[in-house]
Amino acid sequence: MTEGDAEVDSRMRSPGTDSLDVDGLETYLHCPRRYEFAHVDGLEGSDDGTTIDDRIALLRTAICDALRRGETGREAFADAAGERLEALWADHDERFHSRTQRRHERRVLEATLEAYVETVGVDHAEGVERLTAESTDGELVGPDLPLSSTVSLPATETDTESVTIDASVDYVYADGRSIVGVQFVPTLRSLGLLRYRSDWERGIAERFTDHFDPDAGVFDPSFVASLFETAVVIDGLRTRCQQLGLEDRTCRYVQIPLADRSGTAINWVRETVETSLETKDLTDGYIDHHTYGMTHEHRNRTVDDRLADVVSEIAGDAFDPTDRWDDISSDACPDCGYTVCCQDYIAEEVRFDG
Ligand code: SF4
Repeated sequence: MTEGDAEVDSRMRSPGTDSLDVDGLETYLHCPRRYEFAHVDGLEGSDDGTTIDDRIALLRTAICDALRRGETGREAFADAAGERLEALWADHDERFHSRTQRRHERRVLEATLEAYVETVGVDHAEGVERLTAESTDGELVGPDLPLSSTVSLPATETDTESVTIDASVDYVYADGRSIVGVQFVPTLRSLGLLRYRSDWERGIAERFTDHFDPDAGVFDPSFVASLFETAVVIDGLRTRCQQLGLEDRTCRYVQIPLADRSGTAINWVRETVETSLETKDLTDGYIDHHTYGMTHEHRNRTVDDRLADVVSEIAGDAFDPTDRWDDISSDACPDCGYTVCCQDYIAEEVRFDG
């Protein structure tokens, strides 16, 4: 669920077992009041990221449809995805400044698709086929295959004992003894340190802990949200493995960015676009080896415990941003779509002006 959708998350309002999703978790980490506006009150924010999202949706759908067709040869898989993208683009009614811009954006999508096929696409298509052969039960290719993880909450004053957190991946494939969930994302920028480190003990643990320490001077909600999302997805994959009769597998989570232009080279004279694709396996940065040694599962006790605390705060309607106001006002307010209706923000503006 995104803020733009602004659905009222009424599921969190009733006692017993409730639910929310990983987007809501990230919103809450940026600002609890923003979560209240978007997911409790159902107010629409004024920000709009739909253009990029819509273009990415074309690629996601084209790739998933090609994976579903079961083609594993390089040429056949590339052709299947390319033909599907062409058909989807023909129906894409985005308004462009000119035909030149429309042609250029289409070339960018085609170059991204080509980079996907070259970098991981063929391997992943073979992995989907392997998994399909091992398990005929359940969907393996989305987009948006639903996964969920149920978190038991610490004893609090609320009636809520557990919360189910929803997430999704675009497809699942087999890689050796691992089952891998893949999610297409716009960019990897929000991962922060997770993008460059692949060992929990090498800086990731410290930054994660520091985010929750008001005296540490660290505020990194997107990074923390990525670790929470990894925990939810990997736990959701474990559940899916049990349903598929594959309990002996370990689970992994990979993100692939489809709108990252940092590796894109454009030749405006020849009208060509080339790009590369960076994929990121978030699993190694997430697991802590102590918990892994105890459970033989890809888990992290520190992340899991903190996730339960944050979900418990949401279930307890803890939406006052005051405790982290300095961080929120400098990090979250400038890009927030709720400034016109937010009393916390308006009060700060009045105090500042007065
Ligand atoms: S304006 Fe600032 S305090 Fe208000 S909801 Fe947005 S981020 Fe939170």
